[in-house]
Amino acid sequence: MNLPTSTETFQMLINGKWVTAASGKRFQTISPAHDVPVGDYPNGDGHDVAAAVRAARQAFDKGPWPRMSGAERAEILNRVAGIVRENIDNLAYLETLESGKPISQAKGEMDGVAGLWEYAATLCRHLYGDSYNTLGQDKLGFVFREPIGVVGMITPWNFPLLIISQKLPFALAAGCTAVIKPSELTPGTTLRLGQFLQDAGLPDGVVNIVSGYGLPVGAPMAAHRDVDMISFTGSTAVGKHIVAASQGNLKKVSLELGGKNPQIVFADADLEAALDAVVFGVYFNMGECCNSGSRILVEKKVADSFLEQIIERAKTVPVGDPLDEATKVGAIINENQFDKIMAYIDNGQKEGASLQLGGNQMNTESGRFIEPTVFKGVTPEMQIAKEEIFGPVLSVLTFDSTEEAIEIANNTLYGLSAGVWTRDIDNAFRVTRGVRAGTVWINCFMDGYPELPFGGYKESGLGRELGRFSLDEFTELKTVQLHLGPRTNWWHR
Ligand code: NAD
Repeated sequence: MNLPTSTETFQMLINGKWVTAASGKRFQTISPAHDVPVGDYPNGDGHDVAAAVRAARQAFDKGPWPRMSGAERAEILNRVAGIVRENIDNLAYLETLESGKPISQAKGEMDGVAGLWEYAATLCRHLYGDSYNTLGQDKLGFVFREPIGVVGMITPWNFPLLIISQKLPFALAAGCTAVIKPSELTPGTTLRLGQFLQDAGLPDGVVNIVSGYGLPVGAPMAAHRDVDMISFTGSTAVGKHIVAASQGNLKKVSLELGGKNPQIVFADADLEAALDAVVFGVYFNMGECCNSGSRILVEKKVADSFLEQIIERAKTVPVGDPLDEATKVGAIINENQFDKIMAYIDNGQKEGASLQLGGNQMNTESGRFIEPTVFKGVTPEMQIAKEEIFGPVLSVLTFDSTEEAIEIANNTLYGLSAGVWTRDIDNAFRVTRGVRAGTVWINCFMDGYPELPFGGYKESGLGRELGRFSLDEFTELKTVQLHLGPRTNWWHR
């Protein structure tokens, strides 16, 4: 696959119009693997956010979208899914150029995106509340589920179109309107989605997209009084800023944040299957993945031989040009992230862990690539055991008993996901019950389905995405009480 011959120019979407930033300023994205400019974008600020929120507010308060039937909304969401399917190749190409992820993986993600829109379409017709016919002869109680209103969505760079598709179609299914701020590093596919929404017949103003940086765009969005909810995916540190900014109008906040996800490997497991999942789990998306299996806990009696096999397998992982279909690990997103990963590698050695593989920048003509890296002798107190590295770095710890494994697994501020590998079903469920994480995979890792909720315990987040429960996140409950027949006056009671 060739690099683009020119930089693509994008506008942002406000009230059904493709517009420049009020300030006229622009910024560019750069391919992490090739160092060439990819997209040229309006550099938004608070003025653009204000216009976008006005449009979303108007579309919610007065427009047709929240008032349509579920069937009508489902039709539009299904059309979007169809358009995504028709555009898998060009979406994947743009995603790879902006994020540095392997093209084969990006294509898989786009297929997943279409699946999310299709699944959310089914939920449009399943938004329902409750009724109480037990309150006495003269009373009826109803509980309505109503769309929460204008939802601000702020997304990261690691799975740009996939992550907005874990939020937007579900919010739309509930009847909400939205203002979206994609990451400044990868806004391209989210803006393309804006065009698909228009082509599918979504009314103007229902979805607005403001491109730009976190402080000028994300912060005023999180603070805006006419935004009813913020749905944020990103780092735990920024998630805390979002919570603080949301206080002005006590808007609802849902957060999908970082993780330090353990895979716990028992000696009785199918070790060949576990090995594949360990290598996939840590190097997938260059380790720039909230679900990254960045630490493994291995039962001591098999730890040495299992580690040897990991190293042999990790050496064979194809790292390189993400536009090459054979590549499994692409480029690190930017200089900051690169420096952060290298600092963790340095720190791991200083803290006394033993570097068994990798640890260096690869020698390439362009971009920045890090060798698949493995540390052994990692102890639970070390930073590389507890903190999110967001790079291709595996920390190997060991344990003797199930209790010890659970204790080490929980020894972090995060609680996003965990894997457990064993043939003993009792043991698998002891671990599943003991680990405080939003998702536990037993004898598999990082599988995901639109049907199954996803989110974190502890500092990995608030609320859940995906699945039928995620629709509830985008709703308010309204209690309605109805009196039947003559009413007894207050003073006659
Ligand atoms: P980030 O927190 O730096 O940025 C996320 C988004 O927030 C970006 O759009 C950014 O511009 C914006 N932002 C930055 N500062 C802001 C502020 N003060 N107010 C409002 N918005 C602001 O995260 P990132 O580096 O883009 O992504 C990596 C992080 O995302 C990792 O920690 C990863 O674990 C997490 N993540 C979590 C999930 C999940 O589902 N739990 C999925 C993917 C990524």
